[in-house]
Amino acid sequence: MSDSSINVAKFGGTSVANYASMLNCVKVVKGNPDTKVVVVSASAGVTNILVELAHKALTKDEISTYIEQIRAIEFAILHDLGAPTLVADKLMELLESLKQLALHEEILHRPDLKDSLLSHGERMASLLFSEVLTQQGLPADNFDVRKVLLTDSEFGQAAPQLEGIKQRALQLMAPEMTKTVLVTQGFIGSDEAGNTTTLGRGGSDFTAALLAEALGAQSCEIWTDVIGVYTTDPRITDAARPLPELSFEEAAEMATFGAKVLHPATMEPALRQNIKVFVGSSKEPEKGGTWIVRDCVHEPSYRAITRRKDQVMVTVKTPKMMYAQGFLQNVFTIIAKHNLSVDLVTTSEICVSFTLDNPANSVLQRLNRETIEELSQICEVELEEHFDLVTVVGNNMHSAAGVSSRIFAAVSDFNLRMICFGANVHNMSMLVSEKDSTDVVKALHRSLFEA
Ligand code: ADP
Ligand code: ASP
Ligand code: MG
Repeated sequence: MSDSSINVAKFGGTSVANYASMLNCVKVVKGNPDTKVVVVSASAGVTNILVELAHKALTKDEISTYIEQIRAIEFAILHDLGAPTLVADKLMELLESLKQLALHEEILHRPDLKDSLLSHGERMASLLFSEVLTQQGLPADNFDVRKVLLTDSEFGQAAPQLEGIKQRALQLMAPEMTKTVLVTQGFIGSDEAGNTTTLGRGGSDFTAALLAEALGAQSCEIWTDVIGVYTTDPRITDAARPLPELSFEEAAEMATFGAKVLHPATMEPALRQNIKVFVGSSKEPEKGGTWIVRDCVHEPSYRAITRRKDQVMVTVKTPKMMYAQGFLQNVFTIIAKHNLSVDLVTTSEICVSFTLDNPANSVLQRLNRETIEELSQICEVELEEHFDLVTVVGNNMHSAAGVSSRIFAAVSDFNLRMICFGANVHNMSMLVSEKDSTDVVKALHRSLFEA
């Protein structure tokens, strides 16, 4: 198969939230004859409920209520499809296995069971969307991505095994793609032993990019609820405007520092294989969107502002740190052991402060008592919560004159708790109180993009 003719299209949760939204997606798929693979997320809201089922100690009644909410979402779509027996049977099977997992006595303690449970959202959405496409005159098969998307066994945040994925995709997907469109699941994979794994919240974008890479695709479309990547989250300010183009590096920075529109790892496969990534709205595809490419026409100093919420600042302190060797290493070994990733770091003679991402709906381990207890064995530990990380993303920020002074001038009314500048040519980050962060983003946006 010629690689010049493959596009992978991904539809996020709101795009496949219900039957009417799915019909918009059908138009989008039909609009690009190169689309051979369609990756779908779980219908909007479903994964949030699944996370509750997998992570919270619930009563049987609460479990039933949650499952009923999911059933209502899925059955509404099934109903609009005319409830074809084959699809209805498969959907019932999935709902039954979901219920068994939710009731499993080990569910709160076994990460493998949690990931199996979480996989049901994408599996139900792909089953239903392949039927929608077929009924709308574009024959489609529901393909189980776990046959191809091999990962390690880090449940909740599994890492893809690139060679294996490529081999399997070319062997199992490529021949089928010549006959029908393949509708498959984002977010999920399987480990060597065949256990279901997940790639982390928002991981369907990453799946689409990984499949595009494995299949030698030219492009990957991310269809969502906004008409592209904006100068900042359009939910923060109405003044945000869509960007016609972005570089891989800029997009990767934005995703890493909180632009939820793309999963942070999405750009890695795109960068490796020079795959153009498009971001647009499945509801308004005619409005165009953002093209993310290797070389942009313009490389402005300021491209966008992002915000990442739920940051915790940890300060570790020990008088022994003076002249002590290996203290930082010991601290970071504990952090790494608990799978936490550090963003900003500042040091003084006897103190080190750093920030950690600690989002409430994460399936990753959050900062917990064990981590703090372990740190407390080697130093004093102080935690400060209710911070957000605001980042200005741009180009050559370390070398252009006046970049930092312009940014500081814009936020001079606010208390910046920590700042990171110069480590990377593409960003400048600041830690601010969560109550100030909306105003900080707005002030920066006014100064950098509305002047
Ligand atoms: P999907 O379910 O399609 O994956 P997400 O909710 O994960 O969609 O991502 C889309 C959302 O990302 C938008 O509704 C928007 O609020 C948010 N977002 C955050 N930052 C940006 C940005 N810079 N540009 C566009 N959208 C952004
Ligand atoms: N359904 C998953 C989530 O909500 C993956 C995704 O939407 O990309 O995190
Ligand atoms: Mg998303």
